[in-house]
Amino acid sequence: MYCTQCGKEIRDLDRFCGQCGVATGVDGPGAGPTYYGPPAGPPKKLMLSRTDRKVGGVCAGFADYLGWDVTIVRLLFLCGVVYSVGLALVAYLIAWIVIPVPPLTYAPQVVSGVPATRPA
Ligand SMILES: [Zn+2]
Repeated sequence: MYCTQCGKEIRDLDRFCGQCGVATGVDGPGAGPTYYGPPAGPPKKLMLSRTDRKVGGVCAGFADYLGWDVTIVRLLFLCGVVYSVGLALVAYLIAWIVIPVPPLTYAPQVVSGVPATRPA
């Protein structure tokens, strides 16, 4: 914003103009640094997947953590295995050992109980 007195550009949270010293009207608890980050909440933890695993659930766990499609993660992993001459497999095993398995109550897969039906 700009000073109403002298027209000099001032920061939104400045209480006074640095040029002429006129009060900007910014005051109170709103003045000062404002947090614009993501809303507070429990941070997402990287976990192995219980519900969507091919081997150890590492790819599905990463996909869930990153919000990516698990197929993309698996394809990237397979490309990594090819290009790293198997080193990615070692990384997979380490990740499988290191990344915790979620407890059974963690984000349970909701099963509707309605059997899947094929359209006629
Ligand atoms: Zn001013």
